[in-house]
Amino acid sequence: MKTILETYKIREIVDGFIYNELEGKGLFGLSGKLTIQPEYQRNYIYADGKKDVAVIESLLKGYPLGLIYFNDVSKNAFEVLDGQQRITSIGRFTTGKFGVKDENGYEQRFSSLPPEKQDKIMNSKLLVYHCEGEESEIKEWFKTINIAGVPLNEQELLNAIYSGNFVTLAKAEFSNSGNPNIQKRSVYVKGTALRQDFLAAALSWIAESKKQTKSNYMSTHRHDNNITELKNYFNTVIEWAGAVFLDVDSKMQGLEWGRLYETYHTQSYNPADVSSKVRELLADENVNKKSGVFEYVLSGCINTKLLEIRMFDDKTKRERYHKQTTEAKNKGISNCHLCAIENTVNKSKIWELKEMDTDHVTAWSKGGATDVTNCQMLCKTHNRAKGNN
Ligand SMILES: [Zn+2]
Repeated sequence: MKTILETYKIREIVDGFIYNELEGKGLFGLSGKLTIQPEYQRNYIYADGKKDVAVIESLLKGYPLGLIYFNDVSKNAFEVLDGQQRITSIGRFTTGKFGVKDENGYEQRFSSLPPEKQDKIMNSKLLVYHCEGEESEIKEWFKTINIAGVPLNEQELLNAIYSGNFVTLAKAEFSNSGNPNIQKRSVYVKGTALRQDFLAAALSWIAESKKQTKSNYMSTHRHDNNITELKNYFNTVIEWAGAVFLDVDSKMQGLEWGRLYETYHTQSYNPADVSSKVRELLADENVNKKSGVFEYVLSGCINTKLLEIRMFDDKTKRERYHKQTTEAKNKGISNCHLCAIENTVNKSKIWELKEMDTDHVTAWSKGGATDVTNCQMLCKTHNRAKGNN
């Protein structure tokens, strides 16, 4: 890879700057020669009133902004390899998209800054490395650089590595914060469109259904001219989830809906029954893991491990142990009542507290409470054999 170091004034960089509000992308600069957001780049994520403001404040204070890297596609066409967030922030500021506070705490847009401050920004210099090389070489290198402050996440990296038609179309569908389907998707998927969380979910669901990894799937489809399969599968999963679980709950966010769909979609459910069971479990203070409620119900309300049922506290445990042990000693039998009724060497064994576990006499799933009246101590072996509460 060949590199040349050059210096540009901000004035040159933001000449012809265009920002696409809908997709949240900085598009062009350097009088049209610079593509700010090549398709393998992540979306612009500095528009948070902090990171973008910090870039402008740095310029006003005369701090250096760090190195910028351009990929030279040809003599008069460059792409931003690293520095897109900084350049887009500057371009958005100089075109009046946001303001910064002045020394008196008043917000100032670029146009309301005194001329000497405007000049200070426009004349600030950026150090740029121009790089020339094979696509694979540049991408490999791109993969290894971390953009200041916010490293690329896994999906952003995959988008860079497998850039092409498929990623472009998939990003238009799943990574566009202006997409009207976002609200519906947010019920099931955690995160934001801009950081590629919806695309990551869509890809991992379909890849899993084919027993592939996301990378396999992306490389197989890299040059496809459509994303029909990806989109249909994603919508199918979400529609299934919406048909089985009528109520929307925040605990649904981020579940492995693809796996749940694959495992349970051939079973039939009565949505009204499902709904009342889910509501009951979500309200049950003995259920520690509320996000496990959905699969618990889908799989027929059997596997209580999914719910992490609240266990007895130490006080109850000790209280119960002492009572049980005193009674057992008086009768000359084991303090584990299951050991006591079995005719083995442990028939009259007195276990220590640490050798025993608590057990619900009446299982939680059958309505048993988690208090001292429903607590018994069993030796660890018997407790395991009895299975989950
Ligand atoms: Zn026992």
